[in-house]
Amino acid sequence: MADMRAYWQNYIAGNWVDGGAGRIAVDDPATGDTLAEQACADAGDVERAVAAAKACHRSGVLTAMRPVLRGRMVRAMGDYLLTEIDTVAEVLCREAGKPLWEARLEVEGAARYFEYYGNQAETLEGRSIPLGEAYYDFTTYEPYGVSAQVIPWNYPLEMAARSLAPALATGNACVLKTPELDPLSSAFIALAAEHAGLPPGAVNILCGLGREAGAALVGHRDVNQIVFTGSVPTGISIATAAAGNVVPCVLELGGKSAAIAWPDADLDRLLASVRWGIFFNAGQVCSAMSRLIVHDDVHDEVVDRIADLARSISTGPGIDRTDFGVNMGAMISAAQRDRAEAMCREAERQGARAVVGGRRLNRPGHFLEPTVLDGIAPEMTIAREEVFGPVLSVLRFRDDDEAIRLANATEYGLVGGVFTADVGRAMKTAARLRAGQVFVNEWFAGGVETPFGGYGKSGYGREKGREALWNYVQTKNIAIAV
Ligand code: NAD
Repeated sequence: MADMRAYWQNYIAGNWVDGGAGRIAVDDPATGDTLAEQACADAGDVERAVAAAKACHRSGVLTAMRPVLRGRMVRAMGDYLLTEIDTVAEVLCREAGKPLWEARLEVEGAARYFEYYGNQAETLEGRSIPLGEAYYDFTTYEPYGVSAQVIPWNYPLEMAARSLAPALATGNACVLKTPELDPLSSAFIALAAEHAGLPPGAVNILCGLGREAGAALVGHRDVNQIVFTGSVPTGISIATAAAGNVVPCVLELGGKSAAIAWPDADLDRLLASVRWGIFFNAGQVCSAMSRLIVHDDVHDEVVDRIADLARSISTGPGIDRTDFGVNMGAMISAAQRDRAEAMCREAERQGARAVVGGRRLNRPGHFLEPTVLDGIAPEMTIAREEVFGPVLSVLRFRDDDEAIRLANATEYGLVGGVFTADVGRAMKTAARLRAGQVFVNEWFAGGVETPFGGYGKSGYGREKGREALWNYVQTKNIAIAV
């Protein structure tokens, strides 16, 4: 296969280096076999990476240049990924278990972040504040300095690009900790930085264990800003470390997001949204449609149609699933698959009905059947906790208040969906949903341009869109007595 080296190194201060903690074996989720080894960083490696980023920032090389030039380098990183897409997508497909066409979409998505934020680099402008004739006053935006970014395994490239692109565009130097389960393809982001001509130390990419390299990074006294995407427990420990050093932190955490469907909804559009909402990336999406709250009048028809959809999904090795279509790959690990399967079993014990699926596939690799659970009550564990797998929980409602109460009945608040032909109802419902983003009649509507982030335990701060730029800069006010 394309460029599947047996061993992949970390990238620190412009050099490819081994890890102080040895190597991590990276598995192929489609087979369970070892795919390659990745250098595993220890606290010493983190120290060197932070020092390189700090030196790069302090040198002024990124901040002195005209922003358009910085923006062009950021855009060039995306161009590089697109040039190498065949190789990058294959590595990503192999290490993450996703269909090859989904891996290609992820590479394109990562490139899109570099394009969008590269274009934003020259748009950050301060303002002048009138203080009368005795003063001239204005604001400027300055990068924090060293940005630390900790990445999850479900979209390793897109999540890395989502933080790295705005951080670099605004002139920060970055240290990125990749996920242990699928770190390999991130090497292409380091190559992209080299190719784009970014100075050594501007981008440092290392893999290591969360509790060792991750903790050393987020607790480092020379880190000036942190972005974390991952689970709630890790988010709490990272926010605690950030507080200890008095640095700002963006938390993009999990979700248990719900779509509400009324009888006047376009059911074809709803079905297409279910397909993407819960079966894309085998449901390992923070903003997955993990609950569907459907009106009593159309409940049976909708459940029947979703069951047919789930049965039609061809599940198997991602590398054989080359074309966009109704297919799904493996989950990332045996542990994630077993946890999702156990949650389905528990739901059935608590009274849910598995209309389709709920079991692992009888073959090597970490596959779970596309699953639809009906008869879900809000107090069941599966109605409140994230499965992070291809498992849709269906609840039913009779009036609008009940629908909104059910949708808001979890501690999370990442996204929500409203499916109806009635614009007034859609707007009223969108206002009442406790979620950072609401999709009307199309799950995942929006794009890199639209702000994304959670209410409640889904985190705080916003990534994507222009709003995310403010995560990476601090305001300086300059007042001149004239
Ligand atoms: P995780 O929290 O286990 O790990 C995420 C990253 O944190 C990994 O790189 C890990 O090594 C690191 N880490 C672990 N412990 C650490 C510590 N003490 N200090 C510093 N770093 C540490 O999450 P995961 O299992 O990789 O990802 C799945 C979770 O991520 C799900 O809950 C999902 O909803 C969430 N997620 C959220 C978004 C979003 O944008 N809101 C996007 C993708 C995934």
